[in-house]
Amino acid sequence: MITSGLNHVAHMIVNKIQENKTIRNLVENAGYNPDDGGYLGENELVEFVNKVFPELYAEANRPAFEIHDNLVDSKGNSVMGKAVSDSKKIGDKYIIKSGGVIKLAKMSFYTYGVLAGTIGHELVHITDMVSGNYQVWANKYGMTHARTLSEVNAYNFEQKYSAPLYNPSEHQFYLNNMKEFNLKH
Ligand SMILES: [Zn+2]
Repeated sequence: MITSGLNHVAHMIVNKIQENKTIRNLVENAGYNPDDGGYLGENELVEFVNKVFPELYAEANRPAFEIHDNLVDSKGNSVMGKAVSDSKKIGDKYIIKSGGVIKLAKMSFYTYGVLAGTIGHELVHITDMVSGNYQVWANKYGMTHARTLSEVNAYNFEQKYSAPLYNPSEHQFYLNNMKEFNLKH
């Protein structure tokens, strides 16, 4: 009982410290200049993520990274990153797991701050798949709304950590959908 009480206090202290962190702080503390850029090889990239987001990366079951010249979403718009899922539908039930891969567009290496913001956003999506939450939402609300709930989590993360490319209007779009369709995490 005493141990768990102390753990609780330690947890609150850690949360308090992390609340004041920004992506810039995390990148700097990991030993990189957030305004520098440049391509990282596969091992260097994994080292970067392990240093910048050690807990989040572990929680996401350490996905691999694929670098692409260009990435587009379903509407053909360029995107910086994509979290790969392993999803199927059996009968009318969705089974959604992490695909264990994050795709990154080359432009996400523009600066290490941008790279960290992009990877952090995609890691949040992967953790929603790993935790089983994504699957729960898909079976409760359908795939489109499940995506909305995961995007809200990913943009909340970007806002909380002041990601360099945080886009408030995209965030608001998903928050509005969440409200309109009465979706709950
Ligand atoms: Zn997203």
